[in-house]
Amino acid sequence: MFSKILLFDIDGTLLLSGRAGYRALTAAFQELFGVERGFDHVPVAGMTDELILTDALARAGVTADATARERFHRRYCELFVDEIHLPGPRKGLMPGVFPLLERLSQLAQVRCGLVTGNFARPARIKLEHFDLCRFFHFGAYGDDAPVRDDLVPIAIERAGRAGVSVEAARDVLVIGDTPLDVQCAIAAGARSIAVATGSYDLASLRQTQADAVLADLSDTDAVVDLLLTG
Ligand SMILES: [Mg+2]
Repeated sequence: MFSKILLFDIDGTLLLSGRAGYRALTAAFQELFGVERGFDHVPVAGMTDELILTDALARAGVTADATARERFHRRYCELFVDEIHLPGPRKGLMPGVFPLLERLSQLAQVRCGLVTGNFARPARIKLEHFDLCRFFHFGAYGDDAPVRDDLVPIAIERAGRAGVSVEAARDVLVIGDTPLDVQCAIAAGARSIAVATGSYDLASLRQTQADAVLADLSDTDAVVDLLLTG
């Protein structure tokens, strides 16, 4: 039995890919559906890739069946592999992320996983680019369920299959940068820590029901303490 399962969001929490995702989505959308700048007004923070695509298709008035969506997904991933290497605004790890994950990896009583709206493949491409794969043992992704609230139970079930279980749902913590991250934790009876390194500032995150709100993850000792005891 482990004392905590820590489920990290990716974008705005662990890292920012410098809009590589936006560029790859936009290019794939134009290529396959003939629509330029298809994602310009689509809200993405905290949303799953599946819902982001549904929203973009609706705004563009495009009907796409499962095969067309799958083709889009494949092309998006192909383009993303190249885009992730290009420079972009705020591209990089968020403050304190690497030392925090290193410290957590040394603690026998906790295991880190992912809960992200990203499809699994772009999630992996991002983590590989920033050398973070080794810190995460399981996860739930945007292709597992369109609604983020359904992802935490999937991640917990996969943790269980990897031999990682905790006593109670409250021993699962979701660490994310949007109100939707907080909400998906609440839906699963888990707790949450909101971090203001993404598209929401401290004041907005304090209006959520997050158990704690942090400016960033840079104070390793304080964050570890919060994660283990909070
Ligand atoms: Mg995020």
